[in-house]
This record gives sequence, structure tokens and C-alpha cells, in this order.
Amino acid sequence: MTATVTRFAPSPTGELHLGNARTALFNVLLARHCGGRFILRVEDTDSERSSEAHVAGQMADLRWLGIEWDAGPDREDGRGPYRQSGRGAIYDAHFASLLQRQALYPCYCTALELTLSRRAQLAAGRPPRYAETCRGLSAEERASRDAAGERPALRFAVPPGQQLRFTDMVHGPQEFRSDDIGDFVVRRADGSAAFFFSNAVDDAAMGVTHVLRGEDHLTNTPRQLLILAALGLAAPQYGHLALILGADGAPLSKRRGAVSVRQYRERGYLPQALTNHLFRLGHASQVHGLLSLDEMAHAFDRAHLGRAAAHFDERQLEVWQRDAAHHLSAPAARAWLVPQLPPDLDAQAAERFIAAALPNVVLPGDLQPWVQIVFGGLPALEPEAQEAVRRAGSGYFSAAAAAAAVNGNDLPAIAAAVRAATGRKGAELYLPLRAALTGRSHGPELAPLLRAMPAGAAHDRLARFA
Ligand code: GLU
Ligand code: ZN
Repeated sequence: MTATVTRFAPSPTGELHLGNARTALFNVLLARHCGGRFILRVEDTDSERSSEAHVAGQMADLRWLGIEWDAGPDREDGRGPYRQSGRGAIYDAHFASLLQRQALYPCYCTALELTLSRRAQLAAGRPPRYAETCRGLSAEERASRDAAGERPALRFAVPPGQQLRFTDMVHGPQEFRSDDIGDFVVRRADGSAAFFFSNAVDDAAMGVTHVLRGEDHLTNTPRQLLILAALGLAAPQYGHLALILGADGAPLSKRRGAVSVRQYRERGYLPQALTNHLFRLGHASQVHGLLSLDEMAHAFDRAHLGRAAAHFDERQLEVWQRDAAHHLSAPAARAWLVPQLPPDLDAQAAERFIAAALPNVVLPGDLQPWVQIVFGGLPALEPEAQEAVRRAGSGYFSAAAAAAAVNGNDLPAIAAAVRAATGRKGAELYLPLRAALTGRSHGPELAPLLRAMPAGAAHDRLARFA
């Protein structure tokens, strides 16, 4: 048994979007599940659309999600380089060997000629494929066109009459006819390797055993298998993941909402919330509840990858977010929420306040009203709170204020005194206290919230209604 090696192979042409984040997550989980290796390969062959800023941004977003690679562009080992822009010599050697074996041939067709041929085929009601115009050129013709300065692309000579079969990890047995696949370009006229080629060759060179990737690549797979077979290289097992759609069933799109990890990160979502939602998109997990990446790796099962499109649902994300926020350790919660706190707050007071308010926080901004209520002086009363205060009456508050003068911000002591003085209990006892102390009729547990308030706050807030 060879060890499992998986990879994530993004093109650095933009931010890491949710679909790619799920692909990366599933690949790292598959590797970790089997005790294998996970590598990051940057597919930056499109030099016009690729940028260093996007490489750095995608790596930062992966790491923020908790995804770490065993080898990659910033972690080279003997099997790299892990950027395709640095692998030109490797591709050239493979082109040379395939040319020698006549598995490739130069194609001199111009873009215009190819377009016209495609149109003619469509007009005749046939699916368009390359018409093999250049497949039969003689050595003399090629030499004279080269001498004339024409720069050919290289095409793969697809063998006729074959059935190409493979078993997809998600979609099961697949079968394609080689006759339906036109001879395809593996090296562009500018000398650069085409996606099919570099992607397949690199997987083999890097020892990749399993490839989970988007469903949009399923029909590329037979071409890649042809290339690998011609080179005598082992093919990985491929699995094509169903697309991620929005909650409304339409494809995720920038126009209709956030699509990148960065956007969610900037809105204050926690990485655990995103990974837990993504973990269940197209993967039927038997394990419920908020999971760490280690727990996900343990629970990950490629037999549970589904074919149906999965829905990214912000409401579901919010459920995970709430769960993730409430599971944060005290230092992690503090790091997450510190930009929301009054700047002069000491560490102990901050910790007390965060512990008290966290149950009411989904996104960091949710802390703001409680910052105001706790640290902003006497809170104004919302209508429902006003009503509760009015109904309680001034005798109730005289007792409460007197107890607060003696006991400070100690809710049990204040409540006991009010109960002794008024005989109230339950909501009748607590609601007016909450209303006067916070200005609201609802909120996080009152005793810890009151303890987080500045000294003297209980007395000041209660005495105004005595
Ligand atoms: N660079 C390709 C993409 O981002 C990789 C496809 C694959 O994973 O094989 O779509
Ligand atoms: Zn041609």
C-alpha cells in the first residue's frame, strides 16, 4: 500500500472562494484521515491573470482556516518546485519525449482558422472537435512552416477507437470514447504548457495518489489519463465534487453575496464556523456537532461524498458561528473581540465582560450594544423595560438601591434583599432589576453582566428609580 498523497492546486487569479476552500479542506482531510501527505501546488501558468498577491492571499486564507500543507511553494522538498511557473524544464522534457514517440504533433492553425472550422461543424449539426488539419503534415511541410517563422502549438494525437474507462471516487464508473475527444493542445504556441498537461504531469511527479476537485473537471479527466498513459506515468484516483450552490439553488456569485473566504473573515466569521459548514457540503457526515479539523479528519469518509449539488446557506453558517463563538477559549474570545472593547479596559475586566456578553454574540459587532450598556453610564430604557420599572414601583427600587449600596454589583445579594422587602419572586423579582440595570428586558445572564460593570454601577442605576 502506498501512502495517500493529496493536493490542492489553485490558480492564483483571485481570492480563495468557498468552492475552492471546500476542495482544499476535503483533500487535507482525506490525507490526514489516512495518515498521508497533503501538498499545495500553485497553478500559475496563466501569467497574465496570476499574481503574487493572490498566492499570498490564498495561502493566508488557507492557514486562517487551519489548513496546513506538508509541502508547497513556501515549503519546498525534493519533489517541487511547487509553482508551475518554475516547472517549464520538466514539461519541456516530457514534450520532447512525446514528440519523439509521435504522440504529439505541431499544429499551425490560427485562431481564426480554428473558429471557422468550429462554426462549420456546428452548422452541420456536429459537435465541434479539432479537424486534425495538421495531423498528417509531412516532415518537409513542417520544416518549411517552421522556417517561415510560424510558431506551432503541440497537439496530443488521440488514439482512435478506444474506450477510456475510470472509476470516479464520487461518480463511480465513467466511460468516454476517444473518438469523441478531438486532438487537444498540450503546449500553446507561446511554449507554455496547457492546463491538462501540467496538471496531470505534476500530479504524477509529486506522487499524488488521490485528487478531489470540482465537477467542472470531470470531462478533462480522460484527456489527462491519455497524457499519463502516453508518458507511462501512474494516474491518481480522481473524485469530482458537486458544485456548491447558494441557499436559493443558484450558483454562488459575487453579485448575490459573499463568495470568498476573505469576505467572511472580514465580516467576523470564525474559521471553525466555515470549516464546519463546508465539511457537510457534499459530504454526509455521521458525526454531528462542532468539530475540530482533527475530528473532521477522523470522521472524513470518501464513501460519503455525494453527487448532488450542496447548498451554502448563511443561516446554517450562522448556527455554526454561534456554536464556534460559544466554544472559544477565554484567550481566543479575547483576541477575536478585542477591537470591540473600550481601549482602557484592563485584562481582568475585559475577560469578565466577554465571558458575560459572549452568549449574545454571533459576530463581533454584536458586542457593541453591550459595551454601551455596561460601560456607557446610565442606560436609557427601552419601552418594555420602562414598563417593567414602572410596574415595580419606587419601594422595590429603594430596597434594591439600599442593598446595592452595601453589596456593590452583587445580584444575588440585591435580589435577596428585594425579595425580603417585597415578597416578589421569579420574573416579577428579576425583570425590573434587569430593566433598570441594562435598559432592556432581554440579554445575557444578569449576574455576570452586573459583575462586569464599573464599581458603583448597580447603586447608580437602581437609585434613579427609588
Ligand atoms: N488549477 C485548477 C483549478 O483551480 C486545478 C484543478 C485540479 O484540481 O485539478 O481549477
Ligand atoms: Zn492545426
